[in-house]
This record gives sequence, structure tokens and C-alpha cells, in this order.
Amino acid sequence: MTTDTRRQEERRSIFLVMRSGAPRTETEAVRKRAEAIGCSAKVFQGEERTVIGIEGEISPTLEVQLGTMLGVQDVVGSGKPDLLETRDLRVPNIRPLISPTILREQLPLSGTALRRVSRSREEVVRVLNGGDDRLVVVVGPCSIHDPTAARDYARRLQEVSAELARDLYVVMRVYFEKPRSTVGWKGLINDPHLDGSFAVNEGLYMARRLLLDLAELGLPAGTEFLDPITPQFFADAVTWAAIGARTTESQVHRQLASGLSMPVGFKNGTDGAVQAAINAVRAADHPHSFLGVTDQGLAGIVTTSGNPDCHVILRGGESGPNYDAGSVRKTLTNLHEASLPQRLMVDASHANSRKDHRRQRLVAEDVAAQIAAGKTGIVGVMMESFLVEGHQSLSDQSPLTYGQSITDSCMSWETTAQTLRGLAESVEARRTVWGRV
Ligand code: PEP
Ligand code: MN
Repeated sequence: MTTDTRRQEERRSIFLVMRSGAPRTETEAVRKRAEAIGCSAKVFQGEERTVIGIEGEISPTLEVQLGTMLGVQDVVGSGKPDLLETRDLRVPNIRPLISPTILREQLPLSGTALRRVSRSREEVVRVLNGGDDRLVVVVGPCSIHDPTAARDYARRLQEVSAELARDLYVVMRVYFEKPRSTVGWKGLINDPHLDGSFAVNEGLYMARRLLLDLAELGLPAGTEFLDPITPQFFADAVTWAAIGARTTESQVHRQLASGLSMPVGFKNGTDGAVQAAINAVRAADHPHSFLGVTDQGLAGIVTTSGNPDCHVILRGGESGPNYDAGSVRKTLTNLHEASLPQRLMVDASHANSRKDHRRQRLVAEDVAAQIAAGKTGIVGVMMESFLVEGHQSLSDQSPLTYGQSITDSCMSWETTAQTLRGLAESVEARRTVWGRV
């Protein structure tokens, strides 16, 4: 509370009721004491009692001093004064946040990791621009809740990625921030202990630690940026980023994407509106000025130069799935009409699979068939996959199953590996169609 506010709060009136029969000397002593400390005091002489009205900056201490003077029997109007605070009324607490510079100093990106991240971004951009005829596949858990299981998954994915490197460019989904339709666990950064303790500083540390490990392993990482402050903590270790269906229409997120150093995919809206994502790609391509944080964690005015490496992600919506050839064609046409590059990624999960992890494989097969038929424009596929298929509820009392999602349902590791092989074959087939073997 500021000094000014405190003054305002203390400026009030109280009434001191003198005991019955209190002599005039006692009343005068109280009045003089009040005036000596800068208050106005007025004596009301009743038939039975004398009451002294006091007005001024009356602190709780002063009130006690006056109330305990000789002859004073009661203090009236001494309850809490009118609430004069107008800010932070619903913010019981703001805790300190580590600065991005400190975290990066604690967990620096090695020279090798730096080169890998930089090269992997270039590779994804080459696929986006058609300079590389492979398919980018963003695959991994809906969310990271257990970094050990994520590392385990990453090692397996890395092997398959190396095996299929001629046809696929694999990026692991490493999602630390979860947008919720209503409420629920909001990801490893927000609540790394999964228990409502919201140890955000630890969450940031764990997230960066995992990204560095993946970079050392040589597996590119993709993540969703939800909070506009978090990129400062680990974006240097991210190859590809997403803006989710719930935030594609948000100016804050479009501005953020305009300053990100990696390619960014915008999901279509949860209602299925693809135009929101197309508009987002256009907005992110422009320079912007907005509020953000510096490396030191201070608020600042950020100026960006615009991000030309953005694309749409079709994820289906309330209106139904949109991975089919017709929806893909329509989106590519709309992109062309908006003077944007005709390229998109198809998300096999979310509304495209109606949240049934078994359907993801069918979606991926449909997309593979479109690719094999020679379709241009599908530059990427996204899949939600973990070690164990399905998902589990965090609220279950039983211990969590290792390697199973606690958010959206995922494909099993085995199904994932098979599906990746199928996608790789479709890329080979497309090459044949294009006569480029
Ligand atoms: C996700 O990728 O896990 C996700 C939340 O996606 P969407 O924004 O499409 O719902
Ligand atoms: Mn998901």
C-alpha cells in the first residue's frame, strides 16, 4: 500500500464516548490531545454523556491511544474505514520470477546445440518453401509431464527419425504449456509437480533442461507458445513453434509469432474457422510493436521485423474434420487468394481425430494417400503420440502410468513407428509421381 493510500485510509471520523459523570478536565484532556496531533475535535455535551467527535488521520495506534485515555468509555465508528484500495483486490500474491538471463546462464546452449537448432530451423523452412521435398512430421506427446519418459520417448523417436531421414524431417512435440477449454492442469511450466504448487521457476528450469538434452541428442523440438513471456526462457532451443486453436485469433500471439526466430504454425480455430489461421499468418509476417519482457525480465516495448516462415495447421473443429482432400484444396486456394504461400500442415489429432487416438492413424493414412497421389502443399503432419496409447486422468488416486498422456489421448509408440513409415512411403511415392527419382 502506498503512503498516499494509507493517508487516505486513515482520514476518518470516530466518536469517543466519555463515561457517565466524567469531569470536564478529562474531556478537555482528550480534546487537547486530539488537536495536538492534528485532528479536529468537537465536544457534544449531552444530558447524560459527553461525546467527542474527532476527524483526521487516525491510525489504529492513535485510536487505541485516544480510546484508553482517562474518562473514555467507548469508541464508536472505529470499524474498518471504507475500502479505499482499488488495485490487486483479487491478487493475493505475486511471487518472484527468475529472469530469462539467469536461466540461460544456468543452462547455456552448447555450441553444438546452437548449430543444431539453427540448422534444423533452416531445414524446416526449406521444406515449407518447397526446396526440400520431404515432409515435416511434428510428433510426440500432447504434453510433457514427466521429463524422464519424454527423454525415453525421444531416444526411440530419434532412431526412427534417422532411419526415415530421406523422406521425413521429424520434430518432437515438446509441449510445456497447455491451453484449456475451461480449467485443468496447464502444463509442466505452470505446475511441474502436478499438485497445484505452481513452482513456475522450477518448471522453466525443467523445460529448458529437457530442450537442451534433446538438442544434444540431435532431435529437433517443437512447442506451443501460450504465454507471451515464456519464449525468452527457452525459444533459443526450439526448432518449430505452434500457436494453438484458442489463440490463433489473438493479436498478442500473432505479434509474438512475428518476432519468433523459428517457423510457426497457426492452428485453425476450435470452431473450424481456417480464415483465422490465414489471417494470423498474414499478421505475423508484418513488423509489430507491443509490450513484452527483456532478457532481464523487465517490461519493455518490443519491436519485431515479422516472420515470413508461418503456415496454417488444419486440426478440424466443431464443424468436423478438415484433413480430407477437399478441405486441403480449399485452404490452399484461400491461401493463394490471400497472396500467401500455398502450404499447410495437417494435425491428425484433436478435432481431426475427434479426440480418439485410434483415429489418428486413419487420418495420417488419408493424408499419406493424398501425398502419394502427388499433392503439393501438404508440407507437414502432426501426431500426438507417447509410449503408451490413450490417456489417463491426473485426478485418479492411483499412481500415474509411465509414458501415458495426462492430457489428450496419444497413439502408442508402436503405432507411431508404423504410421511414420507409412508417411515416409507416401513421400517416396510422391517423388515418383513428380518424376524426381
Ligand atoms: C495441442 O496441440 O495439444 C492443442 C492443444 O491443440 P489445439 O490448439 O489444436 O487444440
Ligand atoms: Mn493435444
